[in-house]
Amino acid sequence: MSKGEKPLTIMKFGGTSVGNAERMQTVAGIVAAEAERSEVVVVVSAMGGVTDMLIRAANEASRGDRDHWKGVRQELARKHREVADQLLSASEQALVLPRLAEAVEDFENLCSGFSLVREVTPRAMDTLSSLGEKMSATLMAAILRTHGKAAEAVDATELIVTDHNFGNATPLMSETQAKTRQRLAGLRRRGIIPVVTGFRGATPDGVCTTLGRGGSDYSATILAAVLDADEVQIWTDVDGVMTADPRLVPSAHIIPEISYREAIELSFFGAKVLHPKTILPVMKKRIPVWTKNTFNPLCPGTKIGPATGNGQPGAKAITSVSKAALITVSGRDTLSFPRLAARVFGALSIDEIPTLMVTQSSADNIVCFAVHDADLQQVKARLEKAFELEMLHDYMAALEVMPHVAIVVVVGEKMKGTPGLAGRTFGVLGRRGINIIAIAQGSSELSISFAVKAADMKEAVRAVHEEFQL
Ligand code: ADP
Ligand code: ASP
Ligand code: MG
Repeated sequence: MSKGEKPLTIMKFGGTSVGNAERMQTVAGIVAAEAERSEVVVVVSAMGGVTDMLIRAANEASRGDRDHWKGVRQELARKHREVADQLLSASEQALVLPRLAEAVEDFENLCSGFSLVREVTPRAMDTLSSLGEKMSATLMAAILRTHGKAAEAVDATELIVTDHNFGNATPLMSETQAKTRQRLAGLRRRGIIPVVTGFRGATPDGVCTTLGRGGSDYSATILAAVLDADEVQIWTDVDGVMTADPRLVPSAHIIPEISYREAIELSFFGAKVLHPKTILPVMKKRIPVWTKNTFNPLCPGTKIGPATGNGQPGAKAITSVSKAALITVSGRDTLSFPRLAARVFGALSIDEIPTLMVTQSSADNIVCFAVHDADLQQVKARLEKAFELEMLHDYMAALEVMPHVAIVVVVGEKMKGTPGLAGRTFGVLGRRGINIIAIAQGSSELSISFAVKAADMKEAVRAVHEEFQL
């Protein structure tokens, strides 16, 4: 329980939930209702589509195209201005419009710079790509005030302190705790709702960073941990965490309760409903995380918390990474398996590239692993460098790369201890004629993963979902 009289709830709203004036109006109603029973800190994403638009504009500018970003500038200004026009009084507009204009000016200056130097650095990209959050937080705070709730937009660069890993920064928790508590103390004492920009943070010397795409979920749980919140609510556009991605499996349905570990496994393997790091800050403190639907606020959603031990063992959900590649490295007679594995994963660890699954053949000194498509070029470069000499003198074969692969993962507590699950999973795939390229089971208690051709992914996910009658 927080120190105040009321419990403290962190409420995060995603891009679709703040996608237009009508949606923002709904969000204000949800926040106002929650504020009756708890003390609230709000975290907002950029309006839907804005982050993609900003990133594309930066990339086009860095290729020297001066027209594209000028168009985006108009669209950015129009989209946010429209919400202000529709929902804010003249006095609120007088406060908000200059701040929106400032963000648009920052956008223009940055893009102009990128097109001049024909480059966008990761550091500059973070400042630019998270401008949408500055704009949506400014609007959302003003809309709450229009609803009679005292609220103030807060830039997370004043709260969340991170390392220098631009584009995918990691929070420094004790610095973040000190800064956040200090910055929010006055607002909390006066009963003002902070509306915090998701996605953004800043290095100890104050340079803007971002927490990775979809990172506003992570912003919310970081703040929950450092403020000792009682609950986190992730408000999105589906009823909760579902048995499969509803876009792939229309019959997927909501899971009322899942454990932290199940949620981590699902989000790591592509369940977009949660950023992969969302659960980490709150797990130790056992702060519950609810996922809820702004389009259906009466639905209770999914509760993510410590495993109760009463849950049914077995498959609970299926997830998949649609764009992956398998890489096979063979040490031949030159490198023993342990040395081969150490050098392969040592090379990957330089950029902390995540591997999705690993299989091996120790007898033949072969290691095979899957990575995200987006990481493939970097992985190849690292491995070619690591084994440059062996490959040059033909002691090792060139890397074998199999592109267009999908990794499918069946997740559930105690999967490992439940007999027959692997048999059923692979049995149904066999009956449907789906070829399995690689399998990994056992290292985690709670998942079975397999690789199939990307073209077979949808069918594989549906078949397994049906088999377990999820
Ligand atoms: P937000 O903008 O609110 O952060 P996201 O688009 O990031 O929302 O995440 C919500 C989306 O995640 C859903 O619309 C759904 O299509 C997708 N999704 C993928 N897997 C799952 C799953 N297992 N359960 C729920 N949603 C999922
Ligand atoms: N706006 C950011 C993104 O689109 C962060 C988020 O929505 O969580 O990645
Ligand atoms: Mg998201």
